[in-house]
Amino acid sequence: MLRRSLRSIAFSASRNYVVKSLYSNMAQIIDGKAIAQEIRFQLGKELKQFVEEGAPVPHLTAVIVGDDPASEKYVANKMIACREVGISSETKRLPSSTTQEELLQVIADLNQDPRVNGVLVQLPVPEHINERTICNAVNVDKDVDGFNELNIGRLALDMDGIIPATPLAVKTLLEHQNIETHGRNAVVVGRSKNVSLPMAILLHADGKYATKALDATVTICHRYTPPKELARYCRQADIIVVAVGKPGLITKDMVKPGACVIDVGINRIKDENTGKFKLVGDVDFEEVRQVAGHITPVPGGVGPMTVAMLMQNTLKAAKNQFYDRKSS
Ligand code: NAP
Repeated sequence: MLRRSLRSIAFSASRNYVVKSLYSNMAQIIDGKAIAQEIRFQLGKELKQFVEEGAPVPHLTAVIVGDDPASEKYVANKMIACREVGISSETKRLPSSTTQEELLQVIADLNQDPRVNGVLVQLPVPEHINERTICNAVNVDKDVDGFNELNIGRLALDMDGIIPATPLAVKTLLEHQNIETHGRNAVVVGRSKNVSLPMAILLHADGKYATKALDATVTICHRYTPPKELARYCRQADIIVVAVGKPGLITKDMVKPGACVIDVGINRIKDENTGKFKLVGDVDFEEVRQVAGHITPVPGGVGPMTVAMLMQNTLKAAKNQFYDRKSS
């Protein structure tokens, strides 16, 4: 039912693009913003039902260390999404001078607090703090970012757990657009532990297990993949997921006609015409859309879906905690 209604929303959201693409051979643009909005709406309904069963309103706490404007913006968007879905939320702001021990204490308190269902520490943390130690300190059941080593391990072993929001967003977009992945060639550009590694796992793993992965044949490219080889691998791919942080890295000549191109990258660059700053991805969008079959825009593609998946993870965590408590 949810799948059907999501499909119909996607159809109407992207109808204009489909019509356009029929006439111009342009890629169908995957409207992540519209799909995310529908998912948030469905999650709101699911949350209402959950609370009607007697569960407390799910609660998410975000922790920001320092005053990075991008982190402030990302967390603000997450808080807006929480309000829309009906999740109660709060942001704890700590100064950049916070020591690792102090941050670990804040996390330990949140882990202990029965009112808190989800905890996220906005990355990056200041350099004097070890990111891995922090990610592992968040209780695995409250780890709505899915960065705790236990959640990553569960994902790697096809076990149920919390999947990091960005790769989950990409998977959901592919499924939503009915992009065939089973037995197809996929390239993941980037090998970061929080985005590209879980992405590659979700793309290649066996769809018959708990993570319902996508059964593709996956190649991972990274900093040391020679540019010629990167282009060669990409040209063989039915699906390209790029998460690097380099504008214009993926160009038209690197894309097989009809391929699906998912752009995770977010780069702030100066617009030569207006002199103002704007956000772009890692893909040369205007060029690549002339050959690709599907493409995500930046902004408005993977970004809003990532926030929607964080909401989904928070509701999942709250449900797991509620039913576990009830059964014990
Ligand atoms: P990251 O940790 O900096 O990782 C970037 C990866 O790109 C690294 O694995 C790096 O290789 C690889 N790389 C660097 N230059 C390359 C090249 N020329 N060719 C191929 N690979 C290259 O970044 P991240 O956290 O994965 O994020 C990647 C991008 O996605 C960033 O722009 C970030 O802002 C964006 N992002 C977007 C969302 C969203 O919701 N849309 C969410 C998270 C991140 P090495 O490992 O060798 O360094």
